[in-house]
Amino acid sequence: MLELNARQIRMDQRAADKQAALVLLGAALEEDGLVAAGYLAGLQAREAQGSTYLGQGIAIPHGTPDTRHLVQRTGVRLLHFPEGVQWGDNQTVHLAIGIAAKSDEHLHLLQLLTRTLGEADTSHALREARTPEALMQVLQGAPQPLLLDAQLVGLGVAVEDFDELLLQGTRRLKKAGCVESGFTSGLQQGEALPLGDGLWWLHGGERVLRPGLAFVTPAHELHHAGAPVRGLFCLASQGEAQRDMLDRLCNLLVDGRGGELAGATSVRTVLEALGGELPVDWPSARVPLANPHGLHARPAQVLMSLAKNFAGEIRVRIAESDSAPVSIRSLSKLLSLGARRGQMLEFFAEPQIAADALPAVLRAVEEGLGESVEPLPAVVEEAVVEAAPAAVELTAPAAGNTLQAIAASSGIASGPAYPQVPQKFEFNPRGQSPEAEMLRLEQARTAIGTEIEALVQGSQVKAIREIFVTHQALLDDPELIEEVQARLSEGDSAEAAWSTVIGRVASQQEALHDDLLAERAADLRDVGRRVLARLCGVEAARAPEQPYILVMGEVGPSDVARLDSQRVAGIVTARGGATSHSAIIARALGIPALVGAGDEVLALEPGTLLLLDGDRGLLTVAPPAEVLEQAERQRAERRQRQEQAEARRHEPAQTRDGHVIEVAANLGDTAGAKQAVELGAEGVGLLRSEFIFMDSAQAPDQASQEAEYRRVLDALGGRPLVVRTLDVGGDKPLPYWPIPQEENPFLGVRGVRLTLQRPQIMQTQLRALLAAADGRALRIMFPMVGQLEEWRQARDMTLRLKDELRIDGDLQIGIMVEVPSAALLAPVLAREVDFFSVGTNDLTQYALAIDRGHPTLSAQADGLHPAVLQLIDMTVRAAHANGRWVGVCGELAADAQAVPLLLGLEVDELSVSARSIPLVKQRVRELDMSSARKLAGTALTLGSAAEVRALVAQALGEVH
Ligand code: PEP
Ligand code: MG
Repeated sequence: MLELNARQIRMDQRAADKQAALVLLGAALEEDGLVAAGYLAGLQAREAQGSTYLGQGIAIPHGTPDTRHLVQRTGVRLLHFPEGVQWGDNQTVHLAIGIAAKSDEHLHLLQLLTRTLGEADTSHALREARTPEALMQVLQGAPQPLLLDAQLVGLGVAVEDFDELLLQGTRRLKKAGCVESGFTSGLQQGEALPLGDGLWWLHGGERVLRPGLAFVTPAHELHHAGAPVRGLFCLASQGEAQRDMLDRLCNLLVDGRGGELAGATSVRTVLEALGGELPVDWPSARVPLANPHGLHARPAQVLMSLAKNFAGEIRVRIAESDSAPVSIRSLSKLLSLGARRGQMLEFFAEPQIAADALPAVLRAVEEGLGESVEPLPAVVEEAVVEAAPAAVELTAPAAGNTLQAIAASSGIASGPAYPQVPQKFEFNPRGQSPEAEMLRLEQARTAIGTEIEALVQGSQVKAIREIFVTHQALLDDPELIEEVQARLSEGDSAEAAWSTVIGRVASQQEALHDDLLAERAADLRDVGRRVLARLCGVEAARAPEQPYILVMGEVGPSDVARLDSQRVAGIVTARGGATSHSAIIARALGIPALVGAGDEVLALEPGTLLLLDGDRGLLTVAPPAEVLEQAERQRAERRQRQEQAEARRHEPAQTRDGHVIEVAANLGDTAGAKQAVELGAEGVGLLRSEFIFMDSAQAPDQASQEAEYRRVLDALGGRPLVVRTLDVGGDKPLPYWPIPQEENPFLGVRGVRLTLQRPQIMQTQLRALLAAADGRALRIMFPMVGQLEEWRQARDMTLRLKDELRIDGDLQIGIMVEVPSAALLAPVLAREVDFFSVGTNDLTQYALAIDRGHPTLSAQADGLHPAVLQLIDMTVRAAHANGRWVGVCGELAADAQAVPLLLGLEVDELSVSARSIPLVKQRVRELDMSSARKLAGTALTLGSAAEVRALVAQALGEVH
């Protein structure tokens, strides 16, 4: 993204004319490596098409589309011309901003400059500036006024508690461009101030981009700190911008009129009371913008000059944005919209000119505002429906076919297919009359409301019931209905209005990259789709009565967590990988699952009988009776084997020739510790401590963490506990710890890299761990260590705290081996660590350069790849040479084919999901250490995971 800073400025430039200035700019861009030679011709050609003079002494030369390939790095260079350069049309330029951009990134720059352009006489100040810093100050312009308009007010919002209400407020601020990531967590840490009448106040000045005030009221009265909550103000404060509004609010409260705000049912009332910008209710019309580079300076100027033909005001906004419309007479305001190709513009005109002005403006936009435009692709009327892989063109696999997928959760399952694929809906975008359309919508909503109610009543599982209660609240959200109603009165059909509003709100929530809101967005789309299906008369496939096989495109962890394991016999996904977190949850729930079966499974007819083998990764479509019988026999054998394994679950895992390997449990919560011991765990080999952090709205304090850790240690009764310190970032963001967006989060700030940046969080966790252990067997390990220095910093912090707390006892400190550099550095690290635990999920991802959740590639991310085995082997050899132990805690440790190899590589401990413990122990008992060593030695010489799997299958003569 284009940003401006003082380092990009070259002061005191001189040029005889525009051409000479362009030459200087071209040279500056080239010298700094932003563009390759030849870009100057692009600057000149663009200037020949039309002046890039922007106003207030500023020009923004940039290349033509056909010179974009010469851009090497997006950026700008600014040349200051104190004496000015004639830019044509009697315009004098004091600042030329040369842009190197591959697409329409300069729209963002225009938005940044709009404040400068809106000022009375910036040109003079630009000319007089003496230093880059002074120039930057001019560019940053006058202080911004407080933003308070319809988009920042939410009345009767469906929320369950104060924290959610707060998120609703900050969501609005973020959407309006007032704040950036991190603002919410700042606010969450502050104390809310009660203002009386159930009104509350919170404000923050960090991460504020422009001042703004959001006001949100809950659909149902809430309580916070023992007092009622009927409305919450969230202020993004900056300078003095809020002073007038605060005066008004204070007067209102002093006059005892706070209740008017708390009980307001119209946004207009709130805005009137607080002096916010009122939405206009003039006639309006919409038109999509087709200009290739959006509403940049040239087309905006054309629009602006059009306004001169009418004796009245015309305003515009981006239709989906909800923001207050801006006057088309103001170039700076038009540019500040940042409208892009494909976005819908909504024009408003004063009633006396509307009949002439709106058609004229629409025509001008359609004709391209002085630019030649390519027509936009046809609008797809399925906003509610998630982007579907081209399911319609797929052919379902034929009866009797067996597909190879990725085994994600063990077990055999059969049952009718219940494919959940996005449906397509066809409908007329225009309605009969607002009343008739509203009635249709009401009927559809009532019908779906009744269905959801039945689901609430019928579900045995609390978490699932809660999901449906949320769906009910979303269905009744007055804000959504209000918005839909507005669209109906503009002539939309019920389907069009409903799908547009749901799609827009859901996309906004998703765009905020907030876990909670993203989940709500998925819920909203779900509810939206059901209502739309009803309106269109499309029957949604009903879930079969008997246990079924759920077939989906991709499945998120929360999808799996909500499944009713009584009704879902198995899961098949078209995409996804075995080490994705959803697969891990499926295993924890004990539901057999296959992932990455290919998109054609999405075309399966509902009800088709499926046979799923979660160990071999096989999916048989409409299996013949004898295959089903054979599977049934296998299932019985496995059950028997499982029973035998369970009977011996408390015995050690000892090979036939007497070698013992420890088998421990992987836990994702503290409650599971007791059950793990019941299932034969000899300790906990990996406590994924993130869950403590993920479950709360703010960073958990030491006392609450201590209680959680103590619970596990108590349940373990002296058995060792290996805890991994907080591992977030990448695919696991925390609601209150927003991580700046990274192009490649898996290679970004995650695991120990992140916690070392926020030592307070890490210190609190370490204190809680040490205090909870109080001398008991505690092993602390750090995730994602890739550098010696990271390990040393984390270790030193732990030892310092141990001394500080004066805790002695059975403490070991180690690292997870998840990054290849840690394995390669094992001989050095082994001199300092107490132990290693190999996280094969990430180690495989990084060694093979395959995203573990990649929709199509993750099938190849097999931890039995010889390259991964080599890394494990190096780690074990280095550890044993220094008298340290090595565990494996990735999913590979429970893989029946991997167990002999890990044993043969002399790994000391396997840590697996608690349910897998009996079978893993049983597997070890069937093996010989001497043959396992040989097998592992041979595997290390092979070239692919498939060869390794074939070797194991052949050597052991069976695959369990
Ligand atoms: C691993 O990477 O193997 C591991 C155990 O950690 P997680 O799956 O939680 O990333
Ligand atoms: Mg990991």
